[in-house]
Parts: sequence; C-alpha cells; structure tokens
Amino acid sequence: MGYIEPAPIRDKENPFESMMSRFHIASQALGLEDEVYNVLKSPAKQVVVSLPITMDDGSIKVFEGYRVIHSNILGPSKGGIRFDPGVNLDEVKALAAWMTWKCAVVDIPYGGAKGGINCNPREMSSGEVERLTRAYTSAMSEIFGPDKDIPAPDMGTGPKEMAWLMDEYSRTQGMTVNSVVTGKPLVLGGSLGRTEATGRGVMVTALSAMEKLKINPYKATVAVQGFGNVGSFAALLLEERGAKIVAVSDLSGAYYNEKGIDIQKAIDYRNSNKGSLEGYEGAEVLDGEELLVLEVDVLVPAAKEDVITTHNAEQIKAKLIVEGANGPTSYKADAIINDNGIMVAPDILANAGGVTVSYFEWVQNRLGYKWTGERVNRRSDRIMKDAFDHVYSVAKEYNVSMRIAAYIVAIDKVAKTYKYRGGF
Ligand code: GLU
Repeated sequence: MGYIEPAPIRDKENPFESMMSRFHIASQALGLEDEVYNVLKSPAKQVVVSLPITMDDGSIKVFEGYRVIHSNILGPSKGGIRFDPGVNLDEVKALAAWMTWKCAVVDIPYGGAKGGINCNPREMSSGEVERLTRAYTSAMSEIFGPDKDIPAPDMGTGPKEMAWLMDEYSRTQGMTVNSVVTGKPLVLGGSLGRTEATGRGVMVTALSAMEKLKINPYKATVAVQGFGNVGSFAALLLEERGAKIVAVSDLSGAYYNEKGIDIQKAIDYRNSNKGSLEGYEGAEVLDGEELLVLEVDVLVPAAKEDVITTHNAEQIKAKLIVEGANGPTSYKADAIINDNGIMVAPDILANAGGVTVSYFEWVQNRLGYKWTGERVNRRSDRIMKDAFDHVYSVAKEYNVSMRIAAYIVAIDKVAKTYKYRGGF
C-alpha cells in the first residue's frame, strides 16, 4: 500500500496521534486501499460552539463545547459527552474515532462520535451544570437525533445530565424523544444494567483473557486505577468472580492492601465521602502512579488517557492489562509492553460493554418496551465474549497484538461497509 505519509511515530504523545498510529499499522496489515484509508482517518464533522452561561453569582461565563462525528458509515453516530477541564478538540477527535472502532468491534450498528465541554463540574453548582447542559443541547439540536447522533455519559456526566439533555432536545422537537440519548435514569427510559455495563464488560473481558493466559481468577491479584463508574464496578464484579483486588485509586491517591480491599465497603465509603476515597481506612496509602507498577496479575487502568507511557511502561509487572478507560496506553508504550510479553485487552474491546448496553437502551426506547436486567446482562456478556474471541483469533491469524487485531476487525468492517455504500 503506497501511503501518502509515513507511520506517524512522533516524540509528543497525544491521544489523537496514538489512535492514528494504531490505525495506520492495522490498515497496513489489512492492505487497506489509500482512498478508504483517507476517508476513515478524517472525522466526518466537527462542531465547536460557545456557550454563554449565567453563573449563580450573576456573572456570565463563556464555555466551549464540542461534538465530533468521526463516522456515520455503520449507522447513526454514538458516543458520550465529557465535562472536564482538560477537554480539547484533539482529545474529542481521538475519542470520536475510538467510538467508531469500538462499535465496529462489538458489531453494533453505529458510527462513532464524542462530545465535550471544557468545564470543571466539580466546582459548579447543580443549577450551573443544568444550564450548561441545556445550552449545549440547544446548540447541538441540529446535530443530535435518534437516527443521526446519539449522545451518552462519559467522564464528568451521568444520568442527571442525560435527563436534562433528553428534556431539552424534546422541547426543540415539540415531543418526547427518549431515544436521542442513552444512559438516562431508569424512569426516563434508561436501561437496567446500563450503570454497571462498562465495568461488567471489563470483567467479562478480563475473565476471557485470564482463561487464555491460564490465570486462575480465584488466585489472581488485581489493581484498578480509577474508582468512578467503570473502575468501581469492574473491581466489584471481578471480586465477585473470586479475584483479589489489592489496590484501587482515585484522584486522592492509591489504596493498597495485600490481603484484598473490600470493594463494596470502599464504594460505600466513596458514596458517603463526596465521591472520593480520601481518608479510606484499611489500606496503605500510595502515590497514584505507584498503583500502575504493583506486583499484580491484572492491571485495570480505568481513569483516563495516557497514563501508561514510555515513562512507566518498563516497570509494569502485571501479566494482563485490561483497559477500562479510553486510550490509557500511549502508542509508544505499546511496543515496550508487547516486548515484555504483557497481554493488553485494548480499550475499544474491553470497555465496549457501556456502548453495547446503550445500544440496548436505544432499541428498548424504539420498541417502547423494557427488558429485564437478566436479559440485558446475558446479551451483553455474550457480545463481549464473542468480540473477545474474534479479536483473539485475528491476533493469532495476523500475528499481531490484541490491540492491532481489534483495529483490524473494526477497520475491516467499516471499510467493507463504506465500499458497499459508496461515495460521491
Ligand atoms: N462514554 C462511553 C464510552 O466511551 C459510552 C458511550 C455510549 O454509550 O454511547 O464508551
């Protein structure tokens, strides 16, 4: 394949470049045509809006909001909305592309998108967050739609924000449209099992990978970075399956106990402590970074992107990394981890349980029908297990890492669909 540009190995590691580098390698392994490569590397649409919000003290503050639709080749675009001070267009672009690959890996009929607002919700009142969410939704009312682009929660957002989004969008349409957004509260058409879905998918992926590596879950030790929605449920569900969670962490630091941390107790403590593990007793307090290099069988980075880089990859002792977060490993760290024989269940596979149950939520909304939690879990577990087995067999077939194999599966599917659909 005669490429327009060389493999982008650069000094600076940012999520978009990391994503593009893997995309490039997988495209080469697949023998993807230049034309299709060029289509898939460019986001379909990028929207940036200014959102003036009246703050509680009467002042007006202007926030910047983004929505990037990477692709709508497989269907309406899907992806969360992130409220975080670090949000920028480059990050949202990478996250949007990851959603395209993620939906394709688990074989659900969606393209990929991501949105975000550069803000710090921890320092805002509930009223300010509501006004910001409504202003963003109103500005994006031409972009969103149940058959066009379907948002969901991501870092810093949850069911509450999705309820405001659904309500505001419904106002613009003059009727209730609950299928425009997923991750809603149950009473508004949310799905049973959605809250724990990403963590549950991480658990299913971890168990599938442990089986291949012949790690007995009852003897396995696990460290989980990040104790938000993904990390805490992944930890809880892995503990339920017999694993010993020896360390968890959040922004306040890492908490280590070689005898195992009682995860339900830690969750209860966090819930009673403004969402933070700060002051948690029954564990040794470590520096957040130290958690990543602990002597454990399984490491679950479930916080944010670029935490495993060339600076610490060499020190990682886990045999298996299961990526609960999006993009926790930088491109340059991949090579070090592979050379050290560590298996990585990549983000676009391991954390796809969330969007899978989002898809079920959308299906239920459109049917006007509610599934039982048992049905949701059974179907999402099967999708996650099948996706793992598929990626594993492609990794063997092409003799590549699980990460590159996941990209191969995804790019192949999107490219084939694109060729059938055609363009101008
Ligand atoms: N924000 C989640 C993710 O990154 C969920 C997206 C969705 O459910 O649409 O996968």
